[in-house]
Amino acid sequence: MGLLNLASAASAWRGYEYYKSGKVKRYRETDDDQYEGQVIGSNGASYQVKINLEHPRSSQCACPHAAGRRIVCKHMVALYFSVFPEEAEDYYREVIEAEEMAEQEQEQLENAVIAYVGKMKKAELQQALLQTLFEGPEWQFERFVCENLGEYDMR
Ligand SMILES: [Zn+2]
Repeated sequence: MGLLNLASAASAWRGYEYYKSGKVKRYRETDDDQYEGQVIGSNGASYQVKINLEHPRSSQCACPHAAGRRIVCKHMVALYFSVFPEEAEDYYREVIEAEEMAEQEQEQLENAVIAYVGKMKKAELQQALLQTLFEGPEWQFERFVCENLGEYDMR
């Protein structure tokens, strides 16, 4: 499994931001598929980071998140993207595409609900509304009461 795939979604994204904002100060190849570099952390600390592309879990960073654990942190991802800028752009494109896809799916779902509700009969609507009011969150019930049954003061 590649280094990027071992990173959590949050670490991958933060790593991309670190790379883009120039937090990787320098790096060099130390061996085949191995690089080391200096990455500035969020607290201003400078971390010595080593990534091993053949054995990503052997990558090292002294940050609190990764120290002593075999995980891929944002500093490792930032270093990786500095070494392979085209991978960074591929990654960014995939994130944007996934977001657009999720937005489209949400929009389709909302349109389907709107169309369905538009076809419901009055009795069905009443039942659905009561169910939503009694089984939904309390704030929703209270708001309905405030907006429609003013004589019952919920406060
Ligand atoms: Zn780290």
